[in-house]
Amino acid sequence: MSSFSGKVAVITGGGGVLCSTMAKALSEQGAKIAILDLKAETAEKVAAEISEQGGNAIGVACNVLDIDSLKAAHEKVLELLGPCDILINGAGGNHPKGTTSKNHLFPEDLNATEEGLKTFFDLDPEGIKFVFDLNFIGTLLPTQVFAKDMVGREGSSIINVSSMNAFRPLTKIPAYSGAKAAISNFTQWLAVHFSKVGIRVNALAPGFFLTEQNRTLLTNTDGSLTDRGNTILSHTPMGRFGTPDDLTGTLLWLCGEGSAFVTGVVIPIDGGFSAFSGV
Ligand code: NAD
Repeated sequence: MSSFSGKVAVITGGGGVLCSTMAKALSEQGAKIAILDLKAETAEKVAAEISEQGGNAIGVACNVLDIDSLKAAHEKVLELLGPCDILINGAGGNHPKGTTSKNHLFPEDLNATEEGLKTFFDLDPEGIKFVFDLNFIGTLLPTQVFAKDMVGREGSSIINVSSMNAFRPLTKIPAYSGAKAAISNFTQWLAVHFSKVGIRVNALAPGFFLTEQNRTLLTNTDGSLTDRGNTILSHTPMGRFGTPDDLTGTLLWLCGEGSAFVTGVVIPIDGGFSAFSGV
């Protein structure tokens, strides 16, 4: 019997690249899995894949920004699997409207008519708000809905998903950087707040994983690296992008008994990116 046998793990964004791998890893350790995703089809597809491998999983359509949708998902999880023991707040991401087109501003950019140029001054507040909402409010609301199940139940764990951006902002993506910094800070806040009720709260900070969200930023259509992709790899001492399985060991450790005295940490899983000064 693994220490995850019979535990219920709720994974928001569970239809996505990184979180579907996390869901499968927890299922292999005996946890019952609820895949919550905005896209019903992907949630159900991942749940079906887990069930085909002998796991116990359900897919639930859910918007992490809509409290009624979260409450309905919670009812379904309670009815079909039981109260939540592990919550992974995985839904998140960036938006082009919160992204500048260049790394730096130059004086001539202010009056330039270049197609596609988007400076800091052109950023759309709605785009910024979208990114803050998805990453921060989209972590806070599911925690409000599912953490109540965990109060006073030993072995409960919340895992948030931060990013390299939280340590030092990456160029071009101020909204995503700020929102993930907020996630790291919130992880510490929640860890302290929940410390008397038996819920540990920690975060993963993935480095650079080649996924659908960033494929066009990091690679060209022929598969070669973009300048940004090259810069990232040259700043990653281990010399490669992460693969979703690289998150598994740390995830299982943070959710399990081996980390019983660990709460409020944000762990980089980045091939050394955050340790390297660049020289
Ligand atoms: P992904 O796009 O493959 O998965 C995200 C999932 O979230 C999608 O299935 C999407 O449908 C779902 N989603 C989006 N909005 C939602 C909403 N409002 N309600 C419910 N579900 C919603 O992304 P990924 O690359 O697997 O990233 C997963 C997490 O890891 C995100 O928080 C991301 O910011 C973070 N992250 C990714 C990387 C990377 O290199 N890919 C690095 C650091 C952090």
